[in-house]
Amino acid sequence: MQSQPILRLRQVVKKFGNFTALHGVDLEIEEGEFFTIVGPSGSGKSTMIRLLVGMDELSEGEIWLRDKRIDQTPANLRPTCMVFQSLALFPHMSVGQNIEFPLKLRGAAPADRKARALELLDLLRLPQSYYQKRISECSGGEKQRVALARALAFDPEILFFDEPLSALDYRLRKTLEKELKSLHARTGKTFVYITHSLEEAMVMSDRIAIMREGRFEQISVADEIYGRPVSRFVAEFMGEVN
Ligand code: ADP
Ligand code: MG
Repeated sequence: MQSQPILRLRQVVKKFGNFTALHGVDLEIEEGEFFTIVGPSGSGKSTMIRLLVGMDELSEGEIWLRDKRIDQTPANLRPTCMVFQSLALFPHMSVGQNIEFPLKLRGAAPADRKARALELLDLLRLPQSYYQKRISECSGGEKQRVALARALAFDPEILFFDEPLSALDYRLRKTLEKELKSLHARTGKTFVYITHSLEEAMVMSDRIAIMREGRFEQISVADEIYGRPVSRFVAEFMGEVN
């Protein structure tokens, strides 16, 4: 573990009217970690990630990116944080145009954009010929890889994922789990991953946070959560994996 976490939450509260979705959450994520937040539906996972990327405002508390407080920073001015949404591709554009989109926004020259897009295709193990291919001609797994390549084109310091694989069939999910893990290793980026599947969390993560009703019930490495669940809730949640 390094001395300064890349991301730090202090007493983060999120209320919707008189309903409290997050009850004063503290969290530290280390640079380069594959950190997974797992919990049942409605436990506050998406609420948390929306605050982290700036899609929603917190009611109380602080979010720090290294030594900079970012909770008041609008989403588009948080270049370090980017959500990857598999279904947010532009279907009428080519794979290359999709990947280059963030670079175009930043005013990169066409030749540089293309070079980077081809590099990213390589990183995601897609053939270079896919540069010209329409999104509508890609399979589900390929679209997922294109979306990842586009997220990486932003060159974010942290990638956030909100249940990106939950809609896919079992085999494709297993394949993409492996690819995500490998991509994490090859990029060295910090991944913050959300899933309701503890099985998925166990396979991929450095550390796992178990969320329950807007609080973290346990945060630890997989072995520890598996071997020493802190509560009946965690143990039962674990039981559903087997
Ligand atoms: P998860 O992603 O873990 O399934 P969410 O973060 O989406 O859970 O939701 C956590 C709780 O907050 C749920 O009870 C949900 O109904 C509530 N919630 C989420 N967004 C809103 C909203 N915009 N307005 C009111 N309640 C919300
Ligand atoms: Mg959710």
